[in-house]
Amino acid sequence: MKLLFLLFICGVLSLQVQAQNARFDIPELTLAKQVKADGLVQPYLDDFIAQCKKYGIEYHDNLFELKEIAVVDTLTVSPKGGTLGMLVRNEDRKVEKIIFSWMTLLDKEILKVVAFHEFGHYFLGYKHTCNDCNTIMAAVNSSYFDIIKDWDYHVEKLFLESPVYLNNQNTTALKVD
Ligand SMILES: [Zn+2]
Repeated sequence: MKLLFLLFICGVLSLQVQAQNARFDIPELTLAKQVKADGLVQPYLDDFIAQCKKYGIEYHDNLFELKEIAVVDTLTVSPKGGTLGMLVRNEDRKVEKIIFSWMTLLDKEILKVVAFHEFGHYFLGYKHTCNDCNTIMAAVNSSYFDIIKDWDYHVEKLFLESPVYLNNQNTTALKVD
């Protein structure tokens, strides 16, 4: 029991170190002029932007308004869980950063779901769709496994049911009328 406990702590410590390294090892700007995106999150941001293009979602302005996308060790963690990601707003309530807890690094699939969740809030105009119902925009995800298992389905649903996409469809319909 004691041994298991120690192993767990070591695991956590090494992850923390990894997270800190990640934070200070921010690569040069690759995607957008002012957005500093953590290298660990960058692939998911690239994926998300590719989906925005596919569904005709305008993302440039939002992307350029972001100062940073980072993995941090400052989000609260408790035995019951913790905040895995959040949008950080300035005093004018404008989002200027998207941050992810180092806890998401426990499994890169978790980081992927949490990244798409936060980007869903920011780029697609989402509020939470439910408390805990195995969708990307649920407030809580007690199991990420189901989402990962049907990832393509969940991503399609995320975009097709998003406020921004639906609003675009309405606007288009009005123009046609
Ligand atoms: Zn959320």
